[in-house]
Amino acid sequence: MEVPRAAGVVVIGGGVVGCSIAYHLARRGVRDVLVVERDAVGAGATSKAAGGIRAQFPTETEIRFSLESRRVFETFAEEFGVDPGYRRIGYLFLVSDAADLRGFEARIALQRGLGVDVRLISPDEARALVPALRVDDLLAAVWGPEDGMAGPAEVTGGFARRARELGARIVEGVEVTGLVLAAGRLRAVRTAARTIATPVAVNAAGPAAARVARLAGVELPVLPRRRHIFFTEPFPEVPGPVPLTTDRASGFYFRKELDALLLSPGDVQDVGDDLVAPVDWGMAEELVRKAVHRLPILERARIAGGWAGLRPLTPDDHAIIGPAPGVEGFFLAVGFGGHGFQHAPATGRVVAEWLTEGRPSMDLSLFDPGRFARGRAVAHDRGPDAE
Ligand SMILES: Cc1cc2nc3c(=O)[nH]c(=O)nc-3n(C[C@H](O)[C@H](O)[C@H](O)COP(=O)(O)OP(=O)(O)OC[C@H]3O[C@@H](n4cnc5c(N)ncnc54)[C@H](O)[C@@H]3O)c2cc1C
Repeated sequence: MEVPRAAGVVVIGGGVVGCSIAYHLARRGVRDVLVVERDAVGAGATSKAAGGIRAQFPTETEIRFSLESRRVFETFAEEFGVDPGYRRIGYLFLVSDAADLRGFEARIALQRGLGVDVRLISPDEARALVPALRVDDLLAAVWGPEDGMAGPAEVTGGFARRARELGARIVEGVEVTGLVLAAGRLRAVRTAARTIATPVAVNAAGPAAARVARLAGVELPVLPRRRHIFFTEPFPEVPGPVPLTTDRASGFYFRKELDALLLSPGDVQDVGDDLVAPVDWGMAEELVRKAVHRLPILERARIAGGWAGLRPLTPDDHAIIGPAPGVEGFFLAVGFGGHGFQHAPATGRVVAEWLTEGRPSMDLSLFDPGRFARGRAVAHDRGPDAE
């Protein structure tokens, strides 16, 4: 598709977040919504996600985002005409440290108060859910039976398709290379193909968000960090259903994918890049050590392959959503870390609402872009780094 000369809103980045925003803007009747994607729709961090969806977050705002997004996943097929592969497999956290357990207890109280079904269970109850688990070194486990998973490609494709049907345009293979400002206001978005006149641009560039923000002179603490996922050959020795299970002590997590197991070492690495994350096969060794400790039966499994992706982290592990400080017309929806896929439905709605109504209908101060400059972004309780 040709790059147009002008647009009402330009969304920079066609990942799950950008496509959800485009859909919600178009649904609200915004004309001339244009998504500019340097690669292909969903090819960024979104294509690397494990698809996990949980309501076990440490703050009320994020829990509300989860509950709203879950409702969207539940009815996705009807609304978008695409089966998102949504399944309630549950999330299970294995806890072996007393201080960690106290943190969970406080979060469970908050989550339950907001209507989330989350339970503290014994190690033996955890083993009843996943019989292959080693549990002799655990203090407890935390079980969220309503948590689940869906397919990032299916969900992103569903948002993109409906956005197009509602009149939004999506151009792929076009990189945003500049943002044109005048008197502190955004005027245009520059690409190699053409400069697009627009009063509003939304930065939804995932791990490359800081680079895109810099085009407008805005510094953003979005820190791309690599994480690996490996998968086994078919391994019926661990039969399904298996919850998305995280070993808090090591960061190792796993879930089933058809007959195989998806396994992550839970690594967090700065590879000095915001676009590409090459696989380090040495990580497979670390993975095997952590995995065999928790699931001894995996001694018999074989790793069939793996991939790595960049999680767009922030210093306090909360996203950055709101107008960019100092540049009128430049909006931010970035820094979603390991939970950008699952929070994309609610994010699209609040961003579209904010842009069309002038403010959001819920308190989004947790995500305030200005909090870092004001020194307010202190990580008190990050909650589990689960994906
Ligand atoms: C291994 C791994 C596992 C994960 N598991 C989960 C999980 O289970 N659940 C969950 O919720 N989240 C998970 N995540 C996190 C999730 O993938 C991200 O938070 C989410 O995909 C971010 O979506 P996004 O649209 O912001 O970014 P992206 O998908 O990266 O989209 C941004 C897009 O912007 C484009 N872009 C960048 N710069 C430019 C430019 N200058 N011009 C034009 N386009 C540009 C990129 O090409 C990209 O397509 C995981 C991440 C990883 C790496």
